[in-house]
Amino acid sequence: RLVPAGLAAGIAVAVAIMAFARRQMSVAAALRHGLAHHAFILAYQPIVDLRTGRCIGAEALLRMRRDSGELIGPDLFIPIAEQTGLITRMTERVFELVEQDAGHFLARHPDFHIALNISAADLRSASLLPSIDRLLQRTGARPANLIVEITERGFVDPATARRALAALRERGIAIAIDDFGTGYSSLSYLESLDVDLLKIDRSFIETIGTGAPTSQVVGHIIAMARTIGLRMIAEGIETREQAEFVRRQGVEYAQGWLFGKPVEFRTIEQLCAIEAARPPGEMSDE
Ligand code: C2E
Ligand code: MG
Ligand code: MG
Ligand code: MG
Repeated sequence: RLVPAGLAAGIAVAVAIMAFARRQMSVAAALRHGLAHHAFILAYQPIVDLRTGRCIGAEALLRMRRDSGELIGPDLFIPIAEQTGLITRMTERVFELVEQDAGHFLARHPDFHIALNISAADLRSASLLPSIDRLLQRTGARPANLIVEITERGFVDPATARRALAALRERGIAIAIDDFGTGYSSLSYLESLDVDLLKIDRSFIETIGTGAPTSQVVGHIIAMARTIGLRMIAEGIETREQAEFVRRQGVEYAQGWLFGKPVEFRTIEQLCAIEAARPPGEMSDE
Protein backbone atom coordinates (compact mmCIF):
# COMPACT_ATOMS: atom_id res chain seq x y z
CA ARG A 1 0.00 0.00 0.00
CA LEU A 2 1.30 3.44 -0.87
CA VAL A 3 -1.21 5.23 1.35
CA PRO A 4 -2.83 3.84 4.49
CA ALA A 5 -6.50 3.01 4.03
CA GLY A 6 -7.69 5.62 6.53
CA LEU A 7 -5.74 8.35 4.79
CA ALA A 8 -6.99 7.24 1.37
CA ALA A 9 -10.55 7.43 2.60
CA GLY A 10 -9.83 10.86 4.04
CA ILE A 11 -8.45 12.05 0.73
CA ALA A 12 -11.47 10.65 -1.12
CA VAL A 13 -13.79 12.53 1.22
CA ALA A 14 -11.79 15.74 0.82
CA VAL A 15 -11.93 15.45 -2.97
CA ALA A 16 -15.67 14.83 -2.83
CA ILE A 17 -16.15 17.86 -0.59
CA MET A 18 -14.14 20.03 -2.95
CA ALA A 19 -16.14 18.82 -5.92
CA PHE A 20 -19.33 19.53 -4.00
CA ALA A 21 -18.17 23.03 -3.04
CA ARG A 22 -17.19 23.77 -6.63
CA ARG A 23 -20.52 22.56 -7.91
CA GLN A 24 -22.37 24.50 -5.27
CA MET A 25 -20.43 27.62 -6.17
CA SER A 26 -21.21 27.26 -9.83
CA VAL A 27 -24.89 26.68 -9.07
CA ALA A 28 -24.89 29.74 -6.78
CA ALA A 29 -23.30 31.78 -9.57
CA ALA A 30 -25.93 30.49 -11.99
CA LEU A 31 -28.68 31.45 -9.53
CA ARG A 32 -27.28 34.98 -9.13
CA HIS A 33 -27.08 35.27 -12.90
CA GLY A 34 -30.65 33.99 -13.13
CA LEU A 35 -31.90 36.57 -10.63
CA ALA A 36 -30.15 39.37 -12.48
CA HIS A 37 -31.40 38.23 -15.88
CA HIS A 38 -34.99 37.37 -15.04
CA ALA A 39 -34.50 33.71 -15.75
CA PHE A 40 -36.96 32.52 -13.10
CA ILE A 41 -40.50 31.61 -14.01
CA LEU A 42 -43.42 30.07 -12.20
CA ALA A 43 -45.43 27.06 -13.28
CA TYR A 44 -48.86 26.66 -11.71
CA GLN A 45 -50.52 23.39 -10.76
CA PRO A 46 -54.29 23.29 -10.23
CA ILE A 47 -55.69 22.51 -6.78
CA VAL A 48 -59.14 20.94 -6.95
CA ASP A 49 -61.99 20.51 -4.50
CA LEU A 50 -62.56 16.75 -4.34
CA ARG A 51 -66.22 17.19 -3.43
CA THR A 52 -67.12 19.32 -6.46
CA GLY A 53 -64.26 18.63 -8.86
CA ARG A 54 -63.77 22.39 -9.16
CA CYS A 55 -60.46 24.14 -9.37
CA ILE A 56 -60.08 26.33 -6.30
CA GLY A 57 -56.61 27.62 -6.97
CA ALA A 58 -53.10 26.75 -8.03
CA GLU A 59 -49.67 26.21 -6.49
CA ALA A 60 -46.85 28.35 -7.85
CA LEU A 61 -43.73 26.25 -8.52
CA LEU A 62 -40.42 27.86 -9.39
CA ARG A 63 -38.25 26.97 -12.40
CA MET A 64 -35.07 28.48 -13.78
CA ARG A 65 -34.62 28.91 -17.51
CA ARG A 66 -31.03 28.39 -18.63
CA ASP A 67 -29.63 30.47 -21.48
CA SER A 68 -30.01 27.30 -23.56
CA GLY A 69 -33.77 27.40 -22.90
CA GLU A 70 -33.63 24.30 -20.73
CA LEU A 71 -35.77 24.48 -17.56
CA ILE A 72 -34.22 23.55 -14.22
CA GLY A 73 -36.46 22.27 -11.44
CA PRO A 74 -36.45 23.60 -7.89
CA ASP A 75 -35.19 20.39 -6.28
CA LEU A 76 -31.84 21.15 -7.92
CA PHE A 77 -31.48 24.78 -6.87
CA ILE A 78 -33.66 25.52 -3.81
CA PRO A 79 -31.36 23.61 -1.39
CA ILE A 80 -28.36 25.57 -2.69
CA ALA A 81 -30.30 28.84 -2.58
CA GLU A 82 -31.09 28.03 1.05
CA GLN A 83 -27.47 27.22 1.91
CA THR A 84 -26.10 30.33 0.23
CA GLY A 85 -28.69 32.77 1.56
CA LEU A 86 -29.99 33.53 -1.95
CA ILE A 87 -33.37 32.13 -1.02
CA THR A 88 -34.80 35.36 0.39
CA ARG A 89 -34.14 37.20 -2.88
CA MET A 90 -35.60 34.29 -4.75
CA THR A 91 -38.74 34.39 -2.64
CA GLU A 92 -39.06 38.13 -3.31
CA ARG A 93 -38.88 37.29 -7.00
CA VAL A 94 -41.61 34.67 -6.58
CA PHE A 95 -43.95 37.33 -5.17
CA GLU A 96 -43.12 39.64 -8.10
CA LEU A 97 -43.82 36.85 -10.55
CA VAL A 98 -47.17 36.05 -8.93
CA GLU A 99 -48.04 39.72 -9.20
CA GLN A 100 -47.21 39.74 -12.92
CA ASP A 101 -48.80 36.41 -13.76
CA ALA A 102 -51.87 36.34 -11.58
CA GLY A 103 -52.44 39.74 -9.96
CA HIS A 104 -55.17 40.81 -12.34
CA PHE A 105 -56.93 37.47 -12.14
CA LEU A 106 -56.79 37.37 -8.33
CA ALA A 107 -58.35 40.81 -8.04
CA ARG A 108 -61.33 39.58 -10.07
CA HIS A 109 -61.61 36.14 -8.41
CA PRO A 110 -61.80 36.43 -4.63
CA ASP A 111 -62.40 32.68 -4.27
CA PHE A 112 -59.28 31.69 -6.17
CA HIS A 113 -56.11 30.82 -4.27
CA ILE A 114 -52.44 30.98 -5.10
CA ALA A 115 -50.28 28.77 -2.90
CA LEU A 116 -46.62 29.78 -2.63
CA ASN A 117 -43.72 27.88 -1.12
CA ILE A 118 -41.50 29.64 1.36
CA SER A 119 -38.39 28.43 3.17
CA ALA A 120 -37.42 28.51 6.81
CA ALA A 121 -35.12 31.49 6.18
CA ASP A 122 -38.05 33.50 4.79
CA LEU A 123 -39.75 33.30 8.18
CA ARG A 124 -36.75 35.13 9.69
CA SER A 125 -36.46 37.57 6.81
CA ALA A 126 -37.61 41.17 7.14
CA SER A 127 -38.65 41.14 3.48
CA LEU A 128 -41.40 38.50 3.64
CA LEU A 129 -44.26 40.67 4.90
CA PRO A 130 -43.35 43.70 2.74
CA SER A 131 -43.27 41.39 -0.32
CA ILE A 132 -46.74 40.14 0.51
CA ASP A 133 -48.12 43.60 1.24
CA ARG A 134 -46.68 44.95 -2.01
CA LEU A 135 -48.35 42.15 -3.98
CA LEU A 136 -51.70 42.83 -2.34
CA GLN A 137 -51.45 46.62 -2.71
CA ARG A 138 -50.39 46.59 -6.33
CA THR A 139 -52.94 44.07 -7.52
CA GLY A 140 -56.02 44.48 -5.38
CA ALA A 141 -55.75 40.79 -4.48
CA ARG A 142 -56.97 39.93 -1.00
CA PRO A 143 -55.04 38.14 1.75
CA ALA A 144 -57.59 35.34 1.44
CA ASN A 145 -56.34 34.79 -2.12
CA LEU A 146 -53.03 33.55 -0.71
CA ILE A 147 -51.87 30.33 0.88
CA VAL A 148 -48.32 30.18 2.23
CA GLU A 149 -46.78 26.68 2.24
CA ILE A 150 -44.07 25.84 4.75
CA THR A 151 -42.44 22.46 5.31
CA GLU A 152 -41.84 21.14 8.78
CA ARG A 153 -38.21 22.27 8.44
CA GLY A 154 -39.62 25.77 8.85
CA PHE A 155 -40.22 25.02 12.52
CA VAL A 156 -36.67 24.26 13.60
CA ASP A 157 -36.77 27.65 15.31
CA PRO A 158 -40.23 27.49 16.91
CA ALA A 159 -40.26 31.02 18.36
CA THR A 160 -39.47 32.63 15.00
CA ALA A 161 -41.95 30.40 13.21
CA ARG A 162 -44.66 31.27 15.69
CA ARG A 163 -44.13 35.03 15.28
CA ALA A 164 -44.02 34.88 11.48
CA LEU A 165 -47.08 32.67 11.24
CA ALA A 166 -49.01 34.93 13.60
CA ALA A 167 -48.20 37.93 11.37
CA LEU A 168 -49.44 36.05 8.31
CA ARG A 169 -52.58 34.92 10.03
CA GLU A 170 -53.34 38.42 11.28
CA ARG A 171 -53.46 39.45 7.64
CA GLY A 172 -55.88 36.64 6.84
CA ILE A 173 -53.42 34.55 4.85
CA ALA A 174 -53.87 30.78 5.08
CA ILE A 175 -50.94 28.63 6.18
CA ALA A 176 -50.35 25.13 4.85
CA ILE A 177 -47.87 22.57 6.12
CA ASP A 178 -46.20 21.14 3.02
CA ASP A 179 -44.97 17.55 2.63
CA PHE A 180 -46.70 16.62 5.86
CA GLY A 181 -45.53 13.34 7.34
CA THR A 182 -41.94 13.57 6.10
CA GLY A 183 -40.72 15.55 9.13
CA TYR A 184 -41.06 15.13 12.85
CA SER A 185 -43.76 17.57 13.90
CA SER A 186 -46.67 16.11 15.75
CA LEU A 187 -50.18 17.05 14.87
CA SER A 188 -50.66 18.51 18.34
CA TYR A 189 -47.70 20.84 17.75
CA LEU A 190 -49.21 21.94 14.43
CA GLU A 191 -52.53 22.45 16.11
CA SER A 192 -50.85 24.76 18.61
CA LEU A 193 -49.45 26.78 15.67
CA ASP A 194 -52.97 27.20 14.38
CA VAL A 195 -52.26 26.23 10.77
CA ASP A 196 -55.12 25.97 8.27
CA LEU A 197 -54.15 23.19 5.93
CA LEU A 198 -52.06 20.04 5.83
CA LYS A 199 -50.60 18.88 2.54
CA ILE A 200 -50.23 15.12 2.71
CA ASP A 201 -46.97 14.16 1.07
CA ARG A 202 -46.96 12.22 -2.17
CA SER A 203 -44.88 9.45 -0.57
CA PHE A 204 -47.99 8.49 1.45
CA ILE A 205 -50.37 8.84 -1.48
CA GLU A 206 -48.17 6.46 -3.49
CA THR A 207 -48.85 3.66 -1.01
CA ILE A 208 -52.62 3.74 -1.53
CA GLY A 209 -53.90 0.48 -2.94
CA THR A 210 -50.51 -1.22 -2.86
CA GLY A 211 -51.41 -3.44 0.09
CA ALA A 212 -48.03 -2.59 1.64
CA PRO A 213 -48.07 -2.32 5.45
CA THR A 214 -47.19 1.38 5.11
CA SER A 215 -50.40 1.93 3.15
CA GLN A 216 -52.26 1.88 6.48
CA VAL A 217 -50.45 5.03 7.58
CA VAL A 218 -52.12 7.48 5.22
CA GLY A 219 -55.58 6.63 6.54
CA HIS A 220 -54.40 7.24 10.11
CA ILE A 221 -52.83 10.61 9.22
CA ILE A 222 -56.06 11.72 7.58
CA ALA A 223 -58.16 10.55 10.52
CA MET A 224 -55.95 12.39 13.02
CA ALA A 225 -55.94 15.60 10.99
CA ARG A 226 -59.73 15.46 10.76
CA THR A 227 -59.99 14.93 14.50
CA ILE A 228 -58.25 18.21 15.18
CA GLY A 229 -60.20 20.00 12.46
CA LEU A 230 -57.45 20.58 9.90
CA ARG A 231 -58.38 20.71 6.25
CA MET A 232 -56.15 18.72 3.90
CA ILE A 233 -54.71 18.78 0.41
CA ALA A 234 -53.54 15.43 -0.95
CA GLU A 235 -50.36 15.88 -3.00
CA GLY A 236 -49.30 13.87 -6.03
CA ILE A 237 -52.62 12.26 -6.93
CA GLU A 238 -51.97 10.30 -10.12
CA THR A 239 -54.78 7.75 -10.19
CA ARG A 240 -58.56 7.73 -9.76
CA GLU A 241 -58.15 5.12 -7.04
CA GLN A 242 -55.96 7.48 -4.99
CA ALA A 243 -58.39 10.37 -5.52
CA GLU A 244 -61.37 8.22 -4.52
CA PHE A 245 -59.57 6.89 -1.44
CA VAL A 246 -58.63 10.29 -0.03
CA ARG A 247 -62.03 11.74 -0.90
CA ARG A 248 -63.82 8.93 0.97
CA GLN A 249 -61.58 9.54 3.98
CA GLY A 250 -62.70 13.17 4.05
CA VAL A 251 -59.78 14.99 2.41
CA GLU A 252 -61.12 18.21 0.93
CA TYR A 253 -58.61 19.12 -1.79
CA ALA A 254 -56.12 17.48 -4.11
CA GLN A 255 -53.32 18.17 -6.53
CA GLY A 256 -51.59 15.86 -8.93
CA TRP A 257 -51.08 14.80 -12.49
CA LEU A 258 -54.57 13.26 -12.55
CA PHE A 259 -55.97 16.80 -12.36
CA GLY A 260 -53.20 18.68 -14.07
CA LYS A 261 -49.46 19.17 -14.32
CA PRO A 262 -47.80 22.52 -13.58
CA VAL A 263 -48.44 24.87 -16.52
CA GLU A 264 -48.19 28.56 -17.30
CA PHE A 265 -50.75 30.78 -15.62
CA ARG A 266 -52.67 31.56 -18.84
CA THR A 267 -53.57 27.89 -19.07
CA ILE A 268 -54.73 27.89 -15.45
CA GLU A 269 -56.91 30.89 -16.24
CA GLN A 270 -58.57 28.95 -19.03
CA LEU A 271 -58.92 25.83 -16.90
CA CYS A 272 -60.17 27.53 -13.77
CA ALA A 273 -61.70 30.87 -14.75
CA ILE A 274 -65.30 29.78 -14.89
CA GLU A 275 -64.98 27.46 -11.94
CA ALA A 276 -63.42 30.16 -9.77
CA ALA A 277 -66.43 32.39 -10.26
CA ARG A 278 -68.30 33.25 -7.08
CA PRO A 279 -70.87 30.77 -5.84
CA PRO A 280 -74.39 31.51 -7.11
CA GLY A 281 -76.22 34.10 -5.07
CA GLU A 282 -73.19 36.16 -4.19
CA MET A 283 -72.96 39.73 -5.39
CA SER A 284 -70.71 40.40 -8.30
CA ASP A 285 -68.63 43.55 -8.40
CA GLU A 286 -67.78 43.26 -12.07
P1 C2E B 1 -43.80 20.73 -3.26
O1 C2E B 1 -44.15 22.11 -2.79
O2 C2E B 1 -44.20 19.60 -2.40
O3 C2E B 1 -44.44 20.63 -4.71
C1 C2E B 1 -44.94 19.46 -5.25
C2 C2E B 1 -43.97 18.86 -6.26
O4 C2E B 1 -44.53 17.63 -6.73
C3 C2E B 1 -43.76 19.72 -7.50
O5 C2E B 1 -42.44 19.46 -7.96
C4 C2E B 1 -44.77 19.15 -8.47
O6 C2E B 1 -44.46 19.39 -9.82
C5 C2E B 1 -44.69 17.68 -8.14
N1 C2E B 1 -45.94 16.96 -8.46
C6 C2E B 1 -47.20 17.46 -8.42
N2 C2E B 1 -48.11 16.51 -8.73
C7 C2E B 1 -47.40 15.38 -8.97
C8 C2E B 1 -47.79 14.03 -9.34
O7 C2E B 1 -48.97 13.70 -9.51
N3 C2E B 1 -46.79 13.13 -9.49
C9 C2E B 1 -45.47 13.47 -9.31
N4 C2E B 1 -44.57 12.51 -9.48
N5 C2E B 1 -45.07 14.72 -8.96
C10 C2E B 1 -46.03 15.66 -8.80
P2 C2E B 1 -41.44 20.63 -8.32
O8 C2E B 1 -42.14 21.70 -9.08
O9 C2E B 1 -40.24 19.98 -8.93
O10 C2E B 1 -41.08 21.24 -6.91
C11 C2E B 1 -40.32 20.50 -5.98
C12 C2E B 1 -40.23 21.21 -4.66
O11 C2E B 1 -39.46 22.42 -4.77
C13 C2E B 1 -41.56 21.68 -4.11
O12 C2E B 1 -42.23 20.61 -3.51
C14 C2E B 1 -41.13 22.75 -3.13
O13 C2E B 1 -40.75 22.19 -1.91
C15 C2E B 1 -39.92 23.33 -3.80
N6 C2E B 1 -40.30 24.59 -4.46
C16 C2E B 1 -40.92 24.80 -5.63
N7 C2E B 1 -41.09 26.12 -5.89
C17 C2E B 1 -40.57 26.77 -4.80
C18 C2E B 1 -40.46 28.15 -4.43
O14 C2E B 1 -40.90 29.08 -5.13
N8 C2E B 1 -39.85 28.43 -3.23
C19 C2E B 1 -39.40 27.43 -2.40
N9 C2E B 1 -38.83 27.78 -1.24
N10 C2E B 1 -39.50 26.13 -2.71
C20 C2E B 1 -40.08 25.80 -3.90
MG1 MG C 1 -45.60 23.10 -1.99
MG1 MG D 1 -45.56 19.42 -1.08
MG1 MG E 1 -43.92 17.12 -1.70
